Amino acid sequence: MEYSLLKDVDYVMPGHANFSPRHKKLAEAEKLISDMRASSKHRLTVGIHEAGHFETAQKLGIAAAYAGPMIEHIRESDCWIVGFGRTQIAKEDWAKLTAEQAAEFCVSGRVAEIVLLNDAPIETSQVDFEDFIYSGKGRPSHLALIYKQAEERLTRELRSDLTAQQSIVRAGARFESQIFGVDRSIKAAA
Ligand SMILES: [Zn+2]
Repeated sequence: MEYSLLKDVDYVMPGHANFSPRHKKLAEAEKLISDMRASSKHRLTVGIHEAGHFETAQKLGIAAAYAGPMIEHIRESDCWIVGFGRTQIAKEDWAKLTAEQAAEFCVSGRVAEIVLLNDAPIETSQVDFEDFIYSGKGRPSHLALIYKQAEERLTRELRSDLTAQQSIVRAGARFESQIFGVDRSIKAAA
């Protein structure tokens, strides 16, 4: 049996998910990613979100790198997680961040969407929120409060900082060209 896994997508799942018949949820996850890639609006949203994380990592003095979509299957809870894009930092850098700094890094994708796109559906940052509140940097209830406060503070700051907004837009375009292969610097002539 041949499987056509999507190109440039990382699959994080136990082998059983790939066996025949293919899991229905896997096909659904792949369709979500294909649909997102086909929509310039969705690609923009993902680029702006990831750029928010990226610029915040730089502000915190840690190196970050972009990565593409992924599909993860959590065996324990039988949950399927679809990530449209990722901004990766080193585990040891993550470990050194205070709870407040980690909250800034996690919420900054959402903040970029709120300020630059005027819309931030809860689903696009649910994984960021859960990563943070279960990070072990404090009790989940306390961390949820820190996350909320960081969201309010960073949203206020970014709204009044045009230079930072422009920088996120540029970083978002870089994400798009790196990950989705869209080069905005070249005007296509037909
Ligand atoms: Zn995010």
